[in-house]
Amino acid sequence: MTKPSLATIWLDGCSGCHMSFLDMDERLLELTERADLVYSPLVDHKTFPDHVDLCLVEGAVSSEDDLHKIKLVRERTTTLISFGDCAVTANVPSMRNPIGTLPLLQRAYVENVTLRPGFPTQVIPAFLPFARPVHSVVKVDVFLPGCPPSADLIYGMLVDLLEGRTPDTHGARFGR
Ligand code: SF4
Repeated sequence: MTKPSLATIWLDGCSGCHMSFLDMDERLLELTERADLVYSPLVDHKTFPDHVDLCLVEGAVSSEDDLHKIKLVRERTTTLISFGDCAVTANVPSMRNPIGTLPLLQRAYVENVTLRPGFPTQVIPAFLPFARPVHSVVKVDVFLPGCPPSADLIYGMLVDLLEGRTPDTHGARFGR
């Protein structure tokens, strides 16, 4: 029987949620018995598949690149999981929202730089005016808050979803 497919993606986040995912330790092996990890910063696949059953999304939607990615991932995913506070509320990335994009770039790339100050024109994708939570851009099916959510919570949620149950993540922030 074909196993369900699992993916994780990383938008504007610090990677801490993915570190927590890795903290599942030996339970990762058990999960590989239940699901195929088909796309993630943790594996080598370069292209998001045409269809994925479960996808965890770390980070806020902050750039044109993030926006493009999350729309494509939403189109191709059955159950989209907002994974951690940056995805759920925009959290740390949203601290830039009251500052505005131009002053932010000025501070980071001109005022605080001694060698060749100037706005980046390559590699750094264009910022959106605001860092936004994932559900403000696309439909989200499951919310797993926490900064980061613990490995126990991630594991419990994934097992629930893989076994066809609706996970109860209401106490996630408090580690219940
Ligand atoms: Fe990092 Fe916390 Fe945001 Fe996760 S929720 S990406 S751990 S800042």
